[in-house]
Amino acid sequence: MAGDRRGRLSTPLSKAVGPKTAEALEKLGPRTTGELLRYYPRRYGDRGKLTDLAHLRLDEHVTVIARVAKNGGVRPMRNRNGAILNVTITDGRAELQLTFFGKRTGPLQGHEKRLRPGTTGMFTGTVSAYRGSRQLTHPDYETFEDLDDEFEAVQKIDWPVPIYPASAAIASWRIATAVRTVLGAQQAPDVPEPLPAAYRETHHLVGALPALQLVHEPHSTTDIARAHLRLRHEEAFVLQTALAQRRSAMLAQPATARPARAGGIRDAFDARLPFTLTAGQREVGDVLEDELARPLPMQRLLQGEVGSGKTVVALRAMLQVVDAGGQAALLAPTEVLAQQHLRTITALLGPLAEAGMLGGAEEATRVTLLTGSLGATARRKALAAAASGEAGIVIGTHALLSENVQFADLGLVVIDEQHRFGVEQRDALRAKADGTPHLLVMTATPIPRTVAMTSFGDLETSTLSELPAGRAGVETVVVPASKPAWIQRVWQRIREEVDAGGRAYVVCPRISATEAEQGTEDADLLDDLPDTGDLVATGGEPAPARPALAAVEDVAALLRQERALEGVTVGEMHGRLSTEAKDAAMAAFAGGAAPVLVSTTVIEVGVDVPEATVMVILDADRFGLSQLHQLRGRIGRGAKPGVCLAVTTAEPGSRAIERVEAFAGTTDGFRLAELDLEQRREGDILGAAQAGRGSSLRLLRVTKDLDIIADARAAARELVARDPALTTEPDLAEVLAESLDEETAEYLQRF
Ligand code: ADP
Ligand code: MG
Repeated sequence: MAGDRRGRLSTPLSKAVGPKTAEALEKLGPRTTGELLRYYPRRYGDRGKLTDLAHLRLDEHVTVIARVAKNGGVRPMRNRNGAILNVTITDGRAELQLTFFGKRTGPLQGHEKRLRPGTTGMFTGTVSAYRGSRQLTHPDYETFEDLDDEFEAVQKIDWPVPIYPASAAIASWRIATAVRTVLGAQQAPDVPEPLPAAYRETHHLVGALPALQLVHEPHSTTDIARAHLRLRHEEAFVLQTALAQRRSAMLAQPATARPARAGGIRDAFDARLPFTLTAGQREVGDVLEDELARPLPMQRLLQGEVGSGKTVVALRAMLQVVDAGGQAALLAPTEVLAQQHLRTITALLGPLAEAGMLGGAEEATRVTLLTGSLGATARRKALAAAASGEAGIVIGTHALLSENVQFADLGLVVIDEQHRFGVEQRDALRAKADGTPHLLVMTATPIPRTVAMTSFGDLETSTLSELPAGRAGVETVVVPASKPAWIQRVWQRIREEVDAGGRAYVVCPRISATEAEQGTEDADLLDDLPDTGDLVATGGEPAPARPALAAVEDVAALLRQERALEGVTVGEMHGRLSTEAKDAAMAAFAGGAAPVLVSTTVIEVGVDVPEATVMVILDADRFGLSQLHQLRGRIGRGAKPGVCLAVTTAEPGSRAIERVEAFAGTTDGFRLAELDLEQRREGDILGAAQAGRGSSLRLLRVTKDLDIIADARAAARELVARDPALTTEPDLAEVLAESLDEETAEYLQRF
């Protein structure tokens, strides 16, 4: 590998900028000179443009640009010993108080002198309230005069002011000083250039060192744009190279070919399918059939609209592998889903799943379930069935990943609802095969192309966009929680559906009233607090007090008292129930004994009860768009149309209501996934592997940089195909080794 070239910028910060600064910086992330150079300003201020002070939020750590309006002078405190200095700063309209305390007047006089009225500068501190006005107590500040004296640069007056994510321990301008120390150290730092020269030329990109100089010390907004363009390309290119390498390394591993066999279990299965496959299912099926027949590991992502019938597609691939003498493992994210897969797959297979049993078909195999909650005996049996090869299909949860699970001949790994599993888990399961097994990953929701190219960049993608014919569809209505008559109508509506033989889900964000919202199992509730923590405050509405969120236990109790639902049994479902209780609740719901199910989002993924026609989502604004779409996908699966009632307390005009309305406005999963993406932060999308300290993605936005990602991907694949070890691009190899976090690096080094 890069060996001796590694770590040109790995000088510990304590050596470069002194221990005290280094310690404060380390708390923010950077530990080495290289990491500091990658710690980019979050924004740029403009000396001529003062920060809007009217919208600062209490308790927020802020950095503002403002002008001193009044200086009250140092005076002794009336009731206590010591002295106080009050200074007022302004943006021209709103004001902010600065308060300094001292034991004696002496130390405060420096502040009094520096903060003359009319002086502008940057001020940083935590906003507090005192007698009705906002203030910063003991703010750290730097006047522009101080800064200019220090760097003797009069022309700096027009330069954008870099504003770094800062903390109480180290102010933004001290970070700027530290960066300048590293950038300007005796000689310019030896920054690696991971972008091939030809790529830079094609895209008119500045070099690695100039880009860092421009991003940290721009003289104009054009400088910032040039730096950002280059750095985004760099991030995209480095990541795409890692993915391309991963992909090519995987393809270099031999895999057992599992060609289709005429007259085998798959053919028998096709013959007994109660419906005809959609054109899309057939098309994807053909692709999978071909890839499984090759002696190279298939690496495919199957994404599809909710309800598009991915399970059948996966099952047919599994049966092809069984026909070729191998086994298939199906990994599901929850017990509920694993159980359901077992039920549907056994039902679809019928006698084909009864090998060795009376009435079992000749080509038959066995299907085994392996989850964490199995009893000891059942578990032993399941382990034996997997290890002996008796079970052609093993369905399970995380328990499948545990060490003592062994397969006789694992030929295919299918991962359902990939968004809940990381790369490490994918690999853990694949490691259970002797060679490299084929891999089919399925996503619960459609994912935007950019995400497919970043998060799943090492996989080939297939898409099922068509729904099986005969689906009546779902109508979605937004119901304001503030209107009791509407809510009453919701319960009546459930009654009507139940009377007509239907089932209704009632989804709540929480299990019980006492439990914290985050505790809700499986609910990745959207965190919609603006993250202005250490930014220059940009304003924003104060968060309104929220009414308590709907909880499963309360709502179930309420519905049991509800007149409109008299005589209707109401079930409950959530992650804290025992496996038996979950099974019982699901069975009672599916069978119609308890046709109303109050649940958390455990039913979000994949649960399939065709009779379900109504879904009420309480506090709908608390869920992300993709999640809402997933939930809604649980209804309208049969011949009867579904109705989804999204109940919300969100105010008209708020972002939350916009989200719910967007959800009600379309059933196009791809559109919703894109909207969802726009509202999430990148870290949520790319997962921990790319969001940590060694993160390689800082400026790249998967929402906006589609073109950059696509260009970088094409170029990276081409490069890796030509030069897999990157011998012609040693700097790129070095950056890859450095910038990927340890876990990922470890992974890449396995090849
Ligand atoms: P998803 O893609 O969301 O995982 P499923 O695989 O659960 O969807 O399929 C949803 C439902 O559609 C299941 O009940 C399945 O049996 C049914 N189904 C699948 N393919 C077809 C088809 N070609 N025609 C009719 N129904 C189908
Ligand atoms: Mg599914």
